[in-house]
Amino acid sequence: MEWMEKELKTLAEASLERSLREHGTVSGLPGYTKRGGRTLLNLSSNNYLGLAEHPAIIEAMRETLLSEGVGAGASRLVTGNRSPYVQLEQSLADWQGCEAALVIANGYMANTGVIGALVRRGDVVFSDRLNHASIVDGVVLSRAENVRYRHNDMDHLRSLLNKYRDHRRKLIVTDAVFSMDGDQACLRELVALKREYGAMLMVDEAHSGGIYGRRGEGLCHELGLQDEVDIHMGTFSKSFGVYGAYICGSRSLIRWLVNKARPLIYSTALPPALVAGISKALEVVIADHWRRERLSEASRSFRSSLRAAGFIIGAGDSPIVPLIVGDNETVLRFSGALEENGLAAVAIRPPTVPDGTARIRFSLSAVHSVKELIDAADCIRTTGIQMGVLR
Ligand code: PMP
Repeated sequence: MEWMEKELKTLAEASLERSLREHGTVSGLPGYTKRGGRTLLNLSSNNYLGLAEHPAIIEAMRETLLSEGVGAGASRLVTGNRSPYVQLEQSLADWQGCEAALVIANGYMANTGVIGALVRRGDVVFSDRLNHASIVDGVVLSRAENVRYRHNDMDHLRSLLNKYRDHRRKLIVTDAVFSMDGDQACLRELVALKREYGAMLMVDEAHSGGIYGRRGEGLCHELGLQDEVDIHMGTFSKSFGVYGAYICGSRSLIRWLVNKARPLIYSTALPPALVAGISKALEVVIADHWRRERLSEASRSFRSSLRAAGFIIGAGDSPIVPLIVGDNETVLRFSGALEENGLAAVAIRPPTVPDGTARIRFSLSAVHSVKELIDAADCIRTTGIQMGVLR
């Protein structure tokens, strides 16, 4: 095992070693996190709509915990498919306006499981270079040809579709909103290309579900493209504030996944209480349009404050605001200084993002007030000047 210490030392020397840092909740203050006895404004969580501590969701989970117990006890195909699942999947299909829906334990398992069920050796997957790691791993596990196109570069994708046009099944897969950049996929163009080349289209709405669409259905609905997307995936761990993931689509797709998606078949069902919590969260997501409005306003004003200060931040209008620093060591120092000044703003480094693009990934929540965000942007600007990130 000596090799391990050596490799860890190399990682640490390149400012690339990660460690697990303890955080605590701050009762009554959902936009904050506690670390080392200090209360920090949490600008690094995916709790976009502020539902992680919602009382009605907690109550729904508590009730089901008492009636159903702590665990499902088996996988869904054995005896784990408890009634909260059946109700949730019906509500999801109604919400998305599709034929059927399937809940899978989490987004990582949904992406790996679904891609593995759709394609195999002899098939080809066209995947945006900035797609989430769970998509990348799903393609690798599937053994299909892994063809990555330059980020949002539709000309590049078209040339690759031409090159691989004789492969058996073709799947185009993309994040709807990119997790580390906060920009949107070119969904209209992707729909046109999938039609032209007879490919399937899968969209991951992990960072857009709950946020876009009149009832929080996601970006595909916002753009009126929901019927053009063959496999619609989203998570319950971000806007919903809970945990888990869903796939929406045709009845045949869901039947196929029940038979072929290995993470569904070979893993224990989520605890029923959690599934009941997701159902309640779905009701809140649909009803509380004000949360989407507040988040969108907060994202606009936070982005424009950072841009006006002179930082390089990404395109897009989502609550994910990347502040590009570049160098791994500098980004760690910057993140540390922000923490000293009361902000939880975590550094994201390679391989999560491409080399030379280390960044602070700010992610906002509907529970942040405009005043908190204006003060935060001011603090980021002053700290940026002190640290030499902003000249
Ligand atoms: N897809 C995307 C785009 C993500 O950002 C993430 C999580 N960060 C996932 C999938 C995985 O979801 P989960 O956390 O539920 O496993």
